[in-house]
Amino acid sequence: MIRTFLGVGDKATNGAYITQGLDSVSCSNPPPRVQISTIGMTTYCPVCKQDGHIGPRGPRRPGMAPNGKQWALSGDINLCGCNPPPTFHAERNMTMTFTSDEVAALMGGGSSAAFTTSAASHWISFALKARGDCSGLRCVAYFKDGSVQQGVLGTNNLVRFERSDNNSACSHVEFMLDDGNAAVSGSVTDSLLAAIGGRI
Ligand SMILES: [Zn+2]
Repeated sequence: MIRTFLGVGDKATNGAYITQGLDSVSCSNPPPRVQISTIGMTTYCPVCKQDGHIGPRGPRRPGMAPNGKQWALSGDINLCGCNPPPTFHAERNMTMTFTSDEVAALMGGGSSAAFTTSAASHWISFALKARGDCSGLRCVAYFKDGSVQQGVLGTNNLVRFERSDNNSACSHVEFMLDDGNAAVSGSVTDSLLAAIGGRI
C-alpha cells in the first residue's frame, strides 16, 4: 500500500480542496511546488459550501510533521458537511509505503502500539526520493524524545538509524550540504520522506 503525502490544492472526490500547508515542507516533484499538509489543516468544500478539515483515515506511521501533527495522506477524508465524507487523492513523488502486515498491525491495534513495541531490533529508515545517486550525503534525524542521530545516505539513497527502541517517532530529518551547513530541514527538500522503515 502506498499513500501519497497531501498538499495545498489537492482535491477530494467531490471537488473539496486543501487550503493550508506547512511553511517549512514542500514538494515540487512533479512541479509545481506545493506546501505539504497535515491532519487537521483547513479545506473548503464547494458542495456543502463549508470550510472543513483534513481527517485521518487508514494506516499511517507514528512520525510527525514539524508542527507536531501527523502527515495528511491520500485516502484521508474531508471533514465537512458532506456524508459520506469525500476522500482526498494526490499524485506526487512523496509517499509513505506499507506492507500488508504493517497495514494489518497499524489498523488492527487502533494505535501504533503494535507497530512500535514488538520488535526485537529497532531502526527507522528514510529514502531520499531524488533522481540520481545521493549516496554519501550526510543527514541528521531528530526524534521526539530529544535524541539526535547522524547518518549517511547509502545505496538507493537510503539512510537507516539504529534505535534503542521504537517508542520515539522521528520528527524531522535535515540533510547537510558539503560545507556542513544544514541544507534543508523540515523533512526536507522536495523529496525525502518516503518513510520506509520502522523495524525488522
Ligand atoms: Zn462538503
